[in-house]
Amino acid sequence: MDLFEKCYGYTEAKDAMRSGTYPYFIPMTENEGTECLFNGHRLIMCGSNNYLGLTTDPRVQQAAVEAVHRFGTSCTGSRFLNGTLEMHEQLEHELAEWLGKEAALVFSTGMQTNLGTISAVVTRKDVVLLDKDDHASIVDGARLSYGETRRFRHNDMADLERVLSSIADDKGKLVVVDGLFSMGGDLAPLPEIVPLCKKYGARLMVDDAHSIGVMGGGRGTAAQFGLTEQVDLIMSTFSKSFASLGGFIAGDEPIIHYIKHHARSLIFSASIPAGNAAAALAALRIMREEPEHSARVNAIGDRVRKELRAMGFNIGPSVSPIIPILIGDTPRTILAWKTLFDAGVFVNPVLSPAVPAGQEILRTSYMASHTDEQIDRALEIYRKVGKQLGLIS
Ligand code: PMP
Repeated sequence: MDLFEKCYGYTEAKDAMRSGTYPYFIPMTENEGTECLFNGHRLIMCGSNNYLGLTTDPRVQQAAVEAVHRFGTSCTGSRFLNGTLEMHEQLEHELAEWLGKEAALVFSTGMQTNLGTISAVVTRKDVVLLDKDDHASIVDGARLSYGETRRFRHNDMADLERVLSSIADDKGKLVVVDGLFSMGGDLAPLPEIVPLCKKYGARLMVDDAHSIGVMGGGRGTAAQFGLTEQVDLIMSTFSKSFASLGGFIAGDEPIIHYIKHHARSLIFSASIPAGNAAAALAALRIMREEPEHSARVNAIGDRVRKELRAMGFNIGPSVSPIIPILIGDTPRTILAWKTLFDAGVFVNPVLSPAVPAGQEILRTSYMASHTDEQIDRALEIYRKVGKQLGLIS
């Protein structure tokens, strides 16, 4: 049996490429933030995670350029050995302070943060409990750990309690949820999750990849609910509101210290380059000092949700600037994505297995730097395409 047989036999993506319906890996010629160019075709970007629009902020760009000049383009090693800069520690210090936690630890990506953190703290005798809609990096972190993984239905507190109550008292328990769910744009009900964790002696970790910069005045989901103290671990990424690349975990000092010495994705991988650390630090300072960006992206989210609902689109329970449009099957989702692309709006088609079959969506998301005129244009195109394809009447 040839190991590569599955690769030679894989035709799905190439079939879609041939029929012009392949929506992935499309290379951009230019990316100006709110608008981008694909081979001369200009689109409004409604599919990015650049929530605060800071990738094009001159202060963030300048910080990255200066850091590259000063420290070079790479750290060429792990945080553990030759790859820690004073700037990494400064970033950790300011992140912890901003989030109201004792300590923070910077990893090379958000994916690596989840892989390393969960596999470090969940060991053989422990159980990790995941919401069914948790991000893939959380699921993979749980798979990488030696503990047992249990799932509960999305945001279903009765189901979470059912699972918690079935676990023996002598087992360590970690509940991990997305603070702001990346596809639905809905929040984890922390005011209900926290007391359940307390009741059953479980620790709580919140993945705030999409929430820092956006919710809680920028401090994320725990801050939004006034529950910073009760959330044991706050995780996030620099690849969204922080306009950079990297990730971090924040919590009590002894826990972060333990993770620092046990997370294999930290110890055996090179640290983020100075340019990325400097960009994240500059973005953090802007978030802290200029809350208007967070207010702006939420105001845009409020407006788009209201107008899409009024047009008759099904946008589910979103309460944020992540706004899915439910289409409900793969061919129509691809057709809607392609028609919007040709009409000048970039959105992301999300198909099964990333979402359950029958719940295929177009994931739309917005930035503080979008102008009202760009939002007007995008909404007009949604309306036109929605009518043309019979998605709305
Ligand atoms: N968690 C969530 C909820 C995410 O959406 C993502 C990225 N899409 C990650 C973690 C991983 O972050 P990164 O891109 O920094 O690897």
